[in-house]
Amino acid sequence: MLNRSALLSRDPAVVHGFTTRHGGVSQGPLTSLNLALRAGETEAALAENWARVAAALELPGATVGLASQTHGVEVLDGDAATGPGAVSLGEGDALVLTRPGALIAVRVADCVPILLSAPGAVAAVHAGWRGTVAGIAARSVAALTERAGVSPGAVRAAIGPAIGPCCYEVGEEVVAALLTVAPAEVALRPGPRRPHANLRAVNEAILRAAGVEEIEHVGPCTRCSADHYSHRREGEATGRFAGVIGLRELRP
Ligand SMILES: [Zn+2]
Repeated sequence: MLNRSALLSRDPAVVHGFTTRHGGVSQGPLTSLNLALRAGETEAALAENWARVAAALELPGATVGLASQTHGVEVLDGDAATGPGAVSLGEGDALVLTRPGALIAVRVADCVPILLSAPGAVAAVHAGWRGTVAGIAARSVAALTERAGVSPGAVRAAIGPAIGPCCYEVGEEVVAALLTVAPAEVALRPGPRRPHANLRAVNEAILRAAGVEEIEHVGPCTRCSADHYSHRREGEATGRFAGVIGLRELRP
């Protein structure tokens, strides 16, 4: 159900994981751990799936703060989420959380999910190519370090399962945009027909430029993986998996 980062696991106050598509109750093309309201999904199945994720992270019944993702650069305050289960906090593409006992998450199916931790604060980031170019990763590091009162050198990052350079064939518009934020040797792999973009590598470069030194890549290419939803492979009917992170109360 979950892929974890060894790097983020070093902080005992942090709980996190990148979900797979396994272990939930959704049916048909959404089988089975779908975490976003898609055509054919039910509120009951979503609630059960989120409950299972929270339980797997040892925060049963926890609030999960979510963003209505827009491929922009808005960073939302995850501390505003209350009550049990998943709660949308409005339009945005990243969330920052400082409140123990709660979770935040971004939902993806080929876009890049990034989880960040710093002492006393965590962030979840959704980076498709538009958000990547607009700078959502660096914006999120800035919001996290401000909330935590630390420098970017204290931030750890896990870059989760996303479409890889093996599969992410892109057009000239995307190539031109990516080259404004990263050199070609980072952003692109030549393809037989069209270039293939490496969105995870571009986001790593952006994080490093923002001062983050400890970065780990977690999980496979989503289009290559039967364990993940992939928009490129399965189209509009597919579900969404999640990058989830939170803080637990540490008893002295
Ligand atoms: Zn692939």
